[in-house]
Amino acid sequence: MDMDVKWAKDKKFALSKEAAAFLADKSRHKLLIDGEWVDAASGETFPAIDPASGQTIAHIAAGGKEDVNRAVKVARRAFEEGPWAKMSAANRGKLLWKLADLLEERATAFAEIESLDNGKPVVAAEAADLPLSIETIRYIAGWATKVTGQAHHFEPCFAPGEEFFSYTLKEPVGVVGQVIPWNFPLLMATWKIAPALAAGCTVVLKPAEQTSMTALWLGQLIEEAGFPKGVVNIITGFGETAGAAVASHPDIDKVAFTGSTEVGKLIVKAATGNLKKVSLELGGKSPAVVFPDADLDLAIPGAANAIFFNVGQVCTAGSRLYVHKSIFDKVLDGVAEQAKAIKVGPGLDRETQMGPLVSEEQLKRVTGYMALGFDEGARAVCGGKQIGEEGFFVEPTVLVDVGPDMKVVREEIFGPVVVAQPFEDLDEIAKVANDTEYGLASSVWTRDVNKAHRMARKIEAGTVWVNCHHVFDPSIPFGGYKQSGWGRELGQEVMDLYLQTKAVMMKL
Ligand code: NAP
Ligand code: MG
Repeated sequence: MDMDVKWAKDKKFALSKEAAAFLADKSRHKLLIDGEWVDAASGETFPAIDPASGQTIAHIAAGGKEDVNRAVKVARRAFEEGPWAKMSAANRGKLLWKLADLLEERATAFAEIESLDNGKPVVAAEAADLPLSIETIRYIAGWATKVTGQAHHFEPCFAPGEEFFSYTLKEPVGVVGQVIPWNFPLLMATWKIAPALAAGCTVVLKPAEQTSMTALWLGQLIEEAGFPKGVVNIITGFGETAGAAVASHPDIDKVAFTGSTEVGKLIVKAATGNLKKVSLELGGKSPAVVFPDADLDLAIPGAANAIFFNVGQVCTAGSRLYVHKSIFDKVLDGVAEQAKAIKVGPGLDRETQMGPLVSEEQLKRVTGYMALGFDEGARAVCGGKQIGEEGFFVEPTVLVDVGPDMKVVREEIFGPVVVAQPFEDLDEIAKVANDTEYGLASSVWTRDVNKAHRMARKIEAGTVWVNCHHVFDPSIPFGGYKQSGWGRELGQEVMDLYLQTKAVMMKL
C-alpha cells in the first residue's frame, strides 16, 4: 500500500481560532455539575490523546463515584423543583432548537476537535457527525410538544352498565444516567441528551474516556442556550468508576447505554439494585449480502464503505460480507481495489479518507484479531497489518478463506476488517446471515424487489438496508434485535425510553 506516515511528525495542521481556544482553555476540560465547571473530587485528571500522533492534547477531569453522587443530587433537585420542573414542553423544545443553532454556528470547530480527539477525518465529521447531531436535536425538539396521552370512555368488563372515563399521562421517567462510546462522540451525546430533555428528564452523562472533548463543549453550549442549572451534568472519567457509579446509582431512574455487549450486560446487572429502567445500544456483526443480480457499480463501493467507514468503528459495520459464488471473485477484487485506494492519514488532513483507530488499546485489539484470523487459516486479499509506528493506523483489510465457526467471523472486531464468504443457495443465505448472537443491522444488494422484501422479512436485525448501508436519519428508529440491544433510539419511539405512562380512571 502506498502510504506516507511521516506526516505525524512533519506536518502541522492549523485549527480554527475557536477550536484552538477550546483546546487551550483548561477551565473548559472539567466536570459540569449544577451549571459549574469543577475539578473531580479526587483532583485527578487523565489525558485526551490524539490517535494520529499518540500525543496528549489536553487533561480532563477524572470524575468518580463522589462526583456522580453530587451530579445525581442536583439532577434530582432540578427534576423536582425550580424552572425545569415547571417549564412547558414548548419551552423545552425552544431550548433544544437554540442548542442546535449554537452547535451549527460552531460546526467547523466542533468537527476539528472531534477529528483531533477521535481520529476521524475532519471532512467526515463535517459531512456526517455534525449535521446528524444538529438535525437530531431539531427533530427531537419537535417531539417535546407532541407527546400526548389517550382519552377513553369505557364500560368495565367486570361491571357492565357502569361508566368510567380514563386518560393516560405521559410523564418523564426522572433522573437519567447516560453512558456513551467513543466512535461518534458528539452524535452519541446528542442522541442521548436530546430525547431525555424533550421528555422533561434531567441528565448525568458519562462520555467515553477516549473522547470527552466535544461532549464537554456541548455542555458549554447547553449552558449558553439557557437550560437551567443541574438539568444536564457531565461527568468525564472511566467506565469502571464513573460509569459503574451511574449504572448502580440508587437515585437514577433510568440508564441509557451505547457500547459493547459485554459492558451492556454489566450495566444490566448494576441496574438491578433499584431496578432502574435500562435501554441498550450494543455491538453487531452485521451481514452485507450481495445477490447475483445486484448492480455491482453500487454494491462494490457500498460493501467497501459498509466496513471501512469510520475505520470500521461503527456498531452497524458490514463486517460479514456474503457474495453469491457466481460473482464472488469480481466483487472481492472490486472491494480490495477500493480498500487499496483509500487515503489513510491524520483526520485533520482534508485529503484523508480514513483516520487512525481511536486508541492504542483498539489498535491492539484489531491487530490481535488480524493475527487470530491468520492463525485460524484466513487469507488477506488486502491489508492485514498496522501502518507505521506512530499513531494507531491499520490497513483496510479483506479476509477470505474463512468459515462460520471462526472467531473473526463470530466476534465484533470494530476495525476495518471484513470477512468475505461465498454463498450458493439463495434460500439458505438468510439463515447464514442470521447465524450470529447479534442483530443490529444488515444490507441486501439486489435489483429484484421481491427478493429484497423477502430478505427484509427474514433477517433478524433492527435495520435492513437495501442497496445502501449506514443510512441514518433522526426520523428512523434504530436499535438491536437479539444481543444488540434493548429499545429504539431516534424516530418517535425514542421518546418511550424517557417517558412512563400513568393511567387515570374516574367513575362517572
Ligand atoms: P465499552 O467499554 O463498552 O465503552 C462504552 C462506554 O461504557 C464508555 O463510556 C465506557 O467508559 C463505559 N464503561 C466501561 N465499563 C463500564 C462499566 N463497568 N460500567 C459502566 N460503564 C462502563 O467499549 P470500549 O471498551 O470502548 O470498546 C470495546 C468494544 O466495544 C469495541 O471494540 C467494540 O466492539 C464495542 N463498541 C461498540 C460500540 C457501539 O456503538 N455499539 C461503541 C464502542 C465500542 P470508558 O470508555 O471510560 O471505559
Ligand atoms: Mg482521544
